Amino acid sequence: MPADALTSSDSNQPDGLKPRTIAVHAGRPAPSPDAPLNEPITMASMFHAGGDIEYSRFGNPTWTALEDAIGALEGGRCLTFASGLAAVATVLDLVGTGQKVVCPRHAYNGTVGQLADLEARGRITTELVDVTDTDAVVAACAGAALVWLESPTNPALEVADIPTITAAAHEAGAYVVVDNTFATPLLQRPLEDDVDIVVHSATKYLAGHSDVLMGALVTKDDELFGVLSARRGLTGAVPGPFEAWLTLRGLRTLPLRVERAQENAQELVRRLREHPAIDEVRYPGFGGIVSIVLGGGEIAADLLTRKTRLWVHATSLGGVESTLERRRRWKVEPATIPDALVRLSVGVEDVEDLWSDLRRALDGCV
Ligand SMILES: *Cc1c(COP(=O)(O)O)cnc(C)c1O
Repeated sequence: MPADALTSSDSNQPDGLKPRTIAVHAGRPAPSPDAPLNEPITMASMFHAGGDIEYSRFGNPTWTALEDAIGALEGGRCLTFASGLAAVATVLDLVGTGQKVVCPRHAYNGTVGQLADLEARGRITTELVDVTDTDAVVAACAGAALVWLESPTNPALEVADIPTITAAAHEAGAYVVVDNTFATPLLQRPLEDDVDIVVHSATKYLAGHSDVLMGALVTKDDELFGVLSARRGLTGAVPGPFEAWLTLRGLRTLPLRVERAQENAQELVRRLREHPAIDEVRYPGFGGIVSIVLGGGEIAADLLTRKTRLWVHATSLGGVESTLERRRRWKVEPATIPDALVRLSVGVEDVEDLWSDLRRALDGCV
């Protein structure tokens, strides 16, 4: 994990600008007198004939602005989708009948659910792996068409050795996809490790305000970009212009939000490790998501989610507000996730307020 990713400029960023600057400046209309500083919301299904778009399933200037910004941050070309899972489905649709997909057993449950659905219908075969066991993942690459990675995983927070696995997968002739939702392009840029496609649930950190569903794919490979773009036009899993505008507006402050959330998370992890109600604190060392396992089991974990006042009991993550959830309350979550695991999405509030609310609630769960 590149600790200096926020300030590094070794990537193919436009004009060598740093990520914090790109987040503010990418995807803006060309400057001319009286042109708006921000791309407006273009509400249109039809465009006059003879241009590049014609119909809104094929393009929209508001998406393009957002795609330019996400693409510049990840170092590739971006396509946006109606949701993260619409982007995931578009990639999995490329896998040919009977081909093998390798995926972390603790990848996002919607992704594992799509693979299980394809497998149940005889379309593909799936090999689920422990993504922290690099040797096992490398061995699983043999005969695979696609190696799916998610790092860190949701909610187990396991980290994959992306460069080693990508090299092995390419050696075996497989494509590599990384779901970069948790790290964001500020903390990890998988395309720099030769990964073929980056996936985002932009619903989370990229949009960052818990008010929009959005997905994205990013690739450096022009041929792959063309194939994915054609599939999006064919299936129509496109975002709405207002959602694209909201996401771009959120993206402008991504560096501020991620840096503060990470700073808060690191401080909370230090304090949580000392709390007697907690058996285990899982934190990969970066980012704003922390998972804790309560010693008092499922009951104590449910109690915690009811006892906080500031921390919001809600699913999803990556917003400015701190939220928490016992993940196994969803029965689709794998049985290998502890029943007493509570995922914390640390927001940008004052860390002392976050800690006093959490500590008071935890004190009642010992
Ligand atoms: C939420 C999530 C998704 C799914 O995205 P939606 O926008 O909810 O469709 C995919 N991957 C990860 C890691 C997620 O957290």
